[in-house]
Amino acid sequence: MKRLLLVAVLSALSIMPVFAKDKLNVLTTTTDLRSIAESIGGDKVKADALGYGTQDPHFIEAKPSFMLKAKKADLFIRVGLELEIGYEELIIDGSRNPKIRIGQPGHLDASDGVPLLEVPTTQQVDRSMGDVHPMGNPHYWLDPLNAKIVAANIAKRLSELSPENAGYFRENLAAFNAKIDGKMAGWNAAMAPFRGQKVAIYHRSWPYFFNRFGLVDACELEPKPGIPPSPAHLSEVIEIMKRNDLPIVLMEVFYDETPADFVAQKTGAKVVVVPNSVGGDPAAKDYCSLIDTIVERVSGALKK
Ligand SMILES: [Zn+2]
Repeated sequence: MKRLLLVAVLSALSIMPVFAKDKLNVLTTTTDLRSIAESIGGDKVKADALGYGTQDPHFIEAKPSFMLKAKKADLFIRVGLELEIGYEELIIDGSRNPKIRIGQPGHLDASDGVPLLEVPTTQQVDRSMGDVHPMGNPHYWLDPLNAKIVAANIAKRLSELSPENAGYFRENLAAFNAKIDGKMAGWNAAMAPFRGQKVAIYHRSWPYFFNRFGLVDACELEPKPGIPPSPAHLSEVIEIMKRNDLPIVLMEVFYDETPADFVAQKTGAKVVVVPNSVGGDPAAKDYCSLIDTIVERVSGALKK
């Protein structure tokens, strides 16, 4: 009888809130958001990302395993601007987790408050043209000052979901901001000699990075974001590259290098492959080392 009572007491205890998990499950679409969420959430969150840094973030497949991850999530964080339009709804619906529905406290659009680039001025948004940037350029995480805005958004939402840890998240946010501010001087110094330098790029992943560090995008290998290079378009690119004496073609790790090698061969430019997300390269272990890697590779290639 005594033993039965003990079992009953123990099982009652196990469902009491005091034994509830003390970590928030955060699920992000990209590895960059995961890295920032880890910086802010510290040991109060368990963060996971759907995509890998080696994948094109525009085209991630809605796998059943993603729905299982989403089912357990307390907070779902997206980049927004329709970057995740191909899979977000399928995953949230498939998870049957009401907490992370759009509009709920468990759903966060990280772009809130970010000054956006390339937002269409009229309603000429035409997806039939294949443009994957219809709401403006979604690659804002590549400007470190935007990462601070994202971090603040995450800190605010985590504090709402876990008010008892608000002070802890605030301290982590301050530490993250201090780290970015400390790094900015070095990043600016490394990029300063190339201010105004025109370059060719594969996809429009780089306008925010260029805007911050002073490079100029002279042409893209894709005729439109999300549309693979065509021979006709590449001959225009070669023409522009020759006319402007463009020294590099900057491209992400997941695109086919053939078109970039082709234009490089025709113009004497160099192909520079860089990660555009955390994990896209072994050196890009977290948000700051991602920016370190891009700055090092781009400035190193332009120096030669
Ligand atoms: Zn894009």
